[in-house]
Amino acid sequence: MPQANHTPKDVERIVKRLESLRPIFARAAIGDYSADVPPYETEDELTEFAVGLQIMLEVIREKIAKHEELQKTLEEKIVEYADTQRALLNVMEDEKQTRAQLELVRQREAEEKKKLEILVESVGEGIIAVDEKLQVVMVNSAAYAILKATEKDIIGKQICEVMQVMDSDKKVIPENEYPCTLSIQLKKRLVLGNLESPYYLKSLYHDPVPVSLTSTPLLSNGTRGAVIVIRDISEEVAHSRTRSEFITVASHQLKSPMTIIRWISEWLTENETLSEEGKKLLNDLHSASLRLTSLTDTLLNVSRLEEGMVRVDVTSVDVGKLVSEYCNLLSSYAKEKEVTLQCVSPSTPVKIKSDAALITVIVQVLLTNALDYTLAGGTVSIAAARDESRTVIKVWDSGIGIPQQEQHHIFTKFYRAPNAVPYKVEGTGLGLYTAKKITDLLGGKLWFESQEGKGSMFFVELPEKIKAREGTKQLVF
Ligand code: ADP
Repeated sequence: MPQANHTPKDVERIVKRLESLRPIFARAAIGDYSADVPPYETEDELTEFAVGLQIMLEVIREKIAKHEELQKTLEEKIVEYADTQRALLNVMEDEKQTRAQLELVRQREAEEKKKLEILVESVGEGIIAVDEKLQVVMVNSAAYAILKATEKDIIGKQICEVMQVMDSDKKVIPENEYPCTLSIQLKKRLVLGNLESPYYLKSLYHDPVPVSLTSTPLLSNGTRGAVIVIRDISEEVAHSRTRSEFITVASHQLKSPMTIIRWISEWLTENETLSEEGKKLLNDLHSASLRLTSLTDTLLNVSRLEEGMVRVDVTSVDVGKLVSEYCNLLSSYAKEKEVTLQCVSPSTPVKIKSDAALITVIVQVLLTNALDYTLAGGTVSIAAARDESRTVIKVWDSGIGIPQQEQHHIFTKFYRAPNAVPYKVEGTGLGLYTAKKITDLLGGKLWFESQEGKGSMFFVELPEKIKAREGTKQLVF
C-alpha cells in the first residue's frame, strides 16, 4: 500500500511503474492478455499489486486456453455430429428409396400375379398345381369343372385324395406312379393319354372322364412341385367312337357287295366270251373291287384297334419261320416289280410267346411297303434275329427313302410323304399306323432309319413273352 508522506521521487517512481503497466491494460482492454508485467528488481508498495496482476493475467490466459480448447472440442463435436446427422439422413433416404422400390416390386408382383391368375383362369384346360408333398395349392375353374368339385373339396388336400388317375385300360395308377410324382422325381415333363388311348380321371364326385394329361415339374427358388394340365377329351373320344362305329358299319355294308362284284367279274372272265375291250374293263373292275375290299379291311382293322377291343391270342411263335413264309408269299410280287427279295434266316430258331397273326400283319405292312417304294433293280431284305434278350425283325430296302422333314409324321394316321405318292397312288397312309398300333398292343417297339434316295430300315422289337388279352374283335386279313 502507498505510504503517506511520499517524496516527489517516490511519486515519480510510482507513476513510472504505473506507466509501465499501461500497455498491459491497453491490450487487456481489447482482449489480449498475452503481455506480462515487466519484472522489477526492487520491491516496493506496488510489488504486491504487480504480482497479483501477473497472476491474474496468467489465470485469465489459462482460462482462455481452456476455453479455446473446449471450444475446439465443441466445434469438432459439432462437425462430427453434422457428419453423423448427414449419414443418418442418407441412411433414412436410402431406406425410403428401398421401401419405395420394394413397394414397386410388390405392386409389380401383385400385377403379375393378377395377370397370371387371369391367364390361368382363361385357359380352357384344367390346371392343378401341387407342392412337393403333393398337396394341391392351386386349381383353376376348368379343373374344378372337370373334377366337378369346389375349392373346399380340393385345396390343401393330397392329390390322390382328390382324383384317381387311370391308364388307357382304366387300370388305377398307384400313388407312387402318379404323373406328378413321377415328373417331380424324374424332373421331366410327362405327357399321358391322347385321343387314341386316353387316360381317365376319376374324382370322388363323378365317373371317369377321358383326358390327356401333362405334368411339368416346378423347380423355382428351391421350391419343388408340379403343374398338371388336364384336357377333357370326352367329346373328341365320343366323336372318334362315332366315326369308328360309322367306319365299322360302312365297311361291313361294303364288304358283301364288293365280294359279289368280285365273284361276278371272276365268273364272267371264266365263263363268257368277251371282246378285248370288255375283257379289259372286266379286269379293271376286278382290280378295283380287290382294292376296295382291301381298303374296307384296313379301315375295319384300324377302327377295331382304336376301339381297343382286339383279342390277343398267345402261342409259341417261330418268328424266323413266320418271316420266311411271308417272304415266299410276296416273291411273285417282287419278281413282277423286278426287285430282289431276300430273307436272311436266323441260325437258330427265334421263338417267342406272342400272337402270330398280329405279327404277320406287321410283317405284311413293312414288307409290302418296302417292295412298293423300291424301284426295279433294287433290293428288299428281311431278317429276324435274337439280339441279347431282344427279338428284332428288320426290313430294309434300297428304295426311295423318307425325307428327313417327313420322318416325325410317318406313324400318323393317313400320313403319306409326298415323294411316295407317285410310286403307290392308291396308298392310304394307314399301314404304318396299323403296324404301330399292333406293335404297341404286343408290348413291342417299332422305329425306322431312312435317308431319302438311299433306302429305309424298319425295326420291330418284340418281347419274349406277353399275356393273352381278352377281346371281342379280331383283325381281318
Ligand atoms: P401307304 O404305304 O399306304 O402310303 P403306310 O402307312 O404304309 O401307307 O406308309 C405311310 C408312308 O410312309 C408312306 O406313304 C411313305 O411315305 C412312307 N413309307 C413307308 N414305308 C416306306 C419305305 N419302305 N420306303 C419309303 N417310304 C416309306
